[in-house]
Amino acid sequence: MNILEVNGLCKSYRDFALKDITFSVPEGCIAGFIGVNGAGKTTTLKSILGLVRPSAGQIRIFGLDMVKDEREIKDRIGVVFDDGQFYMELTLKEMKNVLAAAYSSWSEQDFSGWLERFELSPRQKISELSKGMRMKFALALALSHKAELLLMDEPTSGLDPLIRTEFLHVLTDYMEQGGKGVLFSTHITSDLDKVADMLVMIDRGRIAFQEEKDALMDSYRIIKGDPAMLSEETRKLFLKLEENTFGFTGITKEADRVMKLMPGVLSERAAVEDIMLANLG
Ligand code: ATP
Repeated sequence: MNILEVNGLCKSYRDFALKDITFSVPEGCIAGFIGVNGAGKTTTLKSILGLVRPSAGQIRIFGLDMVKDEREIKDRIGVVFDDGQFYMELTLKEMKNVLAAAYSSWSEQDFSGWLERFELSPRQKISELSKGMRMKFALALALSHKAELLLMDEPTSGLDPLIRTEFLHVLTDYMEQGGKGVLFSTHITSDLDKVADMLVMIDRGRIAFQEEKDALMDSYRIIKGDPAMLSEETRKLFLKLEENTFGFTGITKEADRVMKLMPGVLSERAAVEDIMLANLG
């Protein structure tokens, strides 16, 4: 079953448009949402949540319609956004009291547990939190009302490597409960190498690909070799090619043909970042 289905989503600003955004997140899946600055990740996430009004398209979450069943859906999702969603003058406890009231399945026990795990004090004022601490607080809130889908916009930006690793553990623990889904945007693609099951890439307002991560990673190879080996024919096998007098580095989806036509080149596994850069239009 798909936890999230986005179908034909369109949204136009003066100088930018989301065009026919269609993808889905199956149950049990951590989906990474990638794309360069300004590609449309935040606009897509905001459109899914109804925070901006799309001009076309349908959003289904848990099989429910986002327009008709917005209240029920919002009760069952956890949201982490980068921009200020808190009243700065409140303490964590006061802010929690305001937000917890909106959820039917709020768990005080879960919340206290998360604060402890993230080493946050309920008596601290939000204005006194560092960026990373604020992000942890947002995550604690999102995880404390039995949410079945987490939608997060760059939740790890500004977090140090230690906390990022902790965050990735939290995500995998969360998934182990079963029946859950996660969609999160990030520029830290190495995090996706570690935890994502699926990758959705957006480029200039269009979906470039949606694919299961392992299959995606298996379909690309990084090739390195002597530029003298490049011919008009072999160049065409690469999606992206960089060369200097010492050597060339290219990315291909046709590794078998490359290896046959250019024996002796080095072939390496591509990283998520390489694949993203190879798919920019
Ligand atoms: P980043 O990685 O930098 O966060 P993003 O992929 O999240 O980028 P968006 O924030 O969705 O990108 O922005 C996509 C485009 O939409 C940008 O060109 C941006 O200027 C434009 N845009 C976003 N919000 C508005 C708005 N309220 N009015 C007009 N244009 C907007």
